[in-house]
Amino acid sequence: MLFEELNLTTPIINALDDLGYKEATPIQEQAFPVVMSGRDMVGVAQTGTGKTFAYLLPILRSIKFSKEKHPRPKVLIVQPTRELVIQLVEELEKLTKYMNIRFAGIYGGANINKQKDVVYNGIDILVSTPGRLVDMTGTGVLRLVDVQKFVLDEVDEMLNSGFKAQLTTILDVLPKKRQNIMFSATLNRDVDNIIQDYFNDPIRVEIARHGTPLEKIEQTAYHVPNYYTKVNLLKYLLHKKDEFKKVLVFVARKKWADRLYSMIEEEFEGEVDVLHSNKSQNYRIQALQKFADGDFRILLATDVIARGIDVTDITHVISYDTPDYPENYIHRIGRTGRAEKSGKSIAFISKIEKEYLEDIEEMMSYTIPALDLPEDVEISEHLLESEKDKTNQRNSLINIKGREGRGEAFHDKKDKNKKENLGGPGRRKPKKTRPINRAAQRKRSQKKKK
Ligand code: ADP
Ligand code: MG
Repeated sequence: MLFEELNLTTPIINALDDLGYKEATPIQEQAFPVVMSGRDMVGVAQTGTGKTFAYLLPILRSIKFSKEKHPRPKVLIVQPTRELVIQLVEELEKLTKYMNIRFAGIYGGANINKQKDVVYNGIDILVSTPGRLVDMTGTGVLRLVDVQKFVLDEVDEMLNSGFKAQLTTILDVLPKKRQNIMFSATLNRDVDNIIQDYFNDPIRVEIARHGTPLEKIEQTAYHVPNYYTKVNLLKYLLHKKDEFKKVLVFVARKKWADRLYSMIEEEFEGEVDVLHSNKSQNYRIQALQKFADGDFRILLATDVIARGIDVTDITHVISYDTPDYPENYIHRIGRTGRAEKSGKSIAFISKIEKEYLEDIEEMMSYTIPALDLPEDVEISEHLLESEKDKTNQRNSLINIKGREGRGEAFHDKKDKNKKENLGGPGRRKPKKTRPINRAAQRKRSQKKKK
């Protein structure tokens, strides 16, 4: 459906026009009348399907310019990370180019006094992370009494990151009479609990999964015997500069990201940067900007930082290690193939990680084609300590503390196992071990013998 066919105002249509957007995505088309109707809504659609505009458009369509000098927010949008707050504010800037709407984003790690001033001066739409929102209401400067529309975006991620307490604190102080709008890539029990406790007979808008998660993304996998061989493979691929133009490399832990960075920085000097939650807020914003602008060709990042990040033209997403939560894989690959673009995803799978791969494939109902390791990639004999201890391999991966992008959910493994994934058989079952790509393994071991 064309945006012109939706009941939008000229300023919004013109702003969309400037962005070059003509057609609404399915979630945008279907969510529009529901949000307009004022009913509570739960929207579920894969990452990269345009959920942000699915709520921004009807909200901007119905918001009225307030004549008050210091308006209190009428619309409150909560996002799980600072980066997403910043990104949403940028989207609002573009969409409200021809409108008279006041909005602001607030988040932790930045000066709260400046943010207090902004809030005090008056805004129509407030965007925040859960933590800063609780802090800000605590100061008394921010009052939520006028909130009519409450949007929880990327709520699965918010709960996975352990923001449940902050979320309920906010929900409890919001005015009773309000519209609740929720968007999520996946549903699980924690999300359901929020809906049951705080939503009023919501309308569900769901965009069904296709056979493959995101058809514009070409997925492949390499089976790589160990960590150091992964380093060799990564370097090999990154040297193909004409093809690997903008590469996001995911690593599960901050320390591992730093370690990988130290291993490739010399060879790719001035081309690679690393991003995780130990970096300062300023650093994070700048690193993302530089990556978006193409100043850095390669960005190493942990899941928590890169979730939801919308950098266009990422040519490749590399999963340097395999996420043990299949959703994280889906989120990772969703960083490429944004909007109308196509993209490639490459997963490096070690022996230990094959079980995770099976979970992922089961969730997507799709088998990721495996590629043979390129001839020129040297198979390293060097092993990490965790790779040496054969008896304890699976455990050595599971018991890792501090894998990013997981937060409290880590302690809730049982709950997590119960979660349901609409449209996909996301439930975990005990796995049989399955030999993968035997032929390639054989070929390599023959080669080595020569
Ligand atoms: P999601 O939240 O579902 O992961 P986003 O809302 O971040 O997805 O949108 C993904 C990308 O698609 C963004 O770059 C956004 O600007 C772009 N986009 C959104 N809606 C449209 C549209 N109707 N036409 C073209 N591009 C769009
Ligand atoms: Mg989103």
